[in-house]
Amino acid sequence: MNHRNLTSTGASGGKSSAPLNAFVNGQGRGSGAESAGAVGPNPCDQEDYCCICMDKIQRKKTLDKCQHSFCRECIDSAFQVKSCCPVCMTLYGNLTGTQPRNGQMTVTRQPFGLPGYEGHGTIIINYSFSDGIQEPEHPSPGVSYRGTFREAYLPDSEEGNKVLRLLQRAFQQRLVFTVGTSATTGRSNTVIWNDIHHKTSSHGGPQCFGYPDPGYLLRVQEELRMKGITEEGVSESAGRVQ
Ligand SMILES: [Zn+2]
Ligand SMILES: [Zn+2]
Repeated sequence: MNHRNLTSTGASGGKSSAPLNAFVNGQGRGSGAESAGAVGPNPCDQEDYCCICMDKIQRKKTLDKCQHSFCRECIDSAFQVKSCCPVCMTLYGNLTGTQPRNGQMTVTRQPFGLPGYEGHGTIIINYSFSDGIQEPEHPSPGVSYRGTFREAYLPDSEEGNKVLRLLQRAFQQRLVFTVGTSATTGRSNTVIWNDIHHKTSSHGGPQCFGYPDPGYLLRVQEELRMKGITEEGVSESAGRVQ
């Protein structure tokens, strides 16, 4: 009975956790709110406070990727609706996307620097998908789709390489692309990006999907985290850059 209720409220995707999230965000994420251990203005940052029942934590359970803690019962119920942290929305479980299976991701490196990262070389990612037939998880199963070829740029810095590892993981989990209607060309049944933003130009700034854009590396890590892709989960499959 209970389960049924929980599941049905969860049918609207992330919506069910929106009130919680609003609650959390409403608690003034002031400066210094992230200093670990400090009792900040956000009660959710307090060690023994459960943001789901808004009371002292009973039988504590700590999530391994984001380290947020809740009552065991509270978080178990929340996960029946959606396997994500109600505080920071980090996804748990290996989310598999609908990216066509025939894709390839290759990485090369160039010595030239990107605007804003002049001291480093450049990582160039090539994604290629040939044409194919849509599978059951796509909008029109059995119908053919058009492949695509995309090039993306990252600075060959420590952080850029971290993002590369995360993108490789996302690609393995079929999360980087999907099949749908292209927002730029309006063409349907084509391989398109799936909400993980890439810099497809080396220059020209954000308007041209290029550099300089000082906030990009952080933003894309945030987008990846929302899909459950974090450095913590990357360990064994990381390596193999290049
Ligand atoms: Zn609780
Ligand atoms: Zn969390």
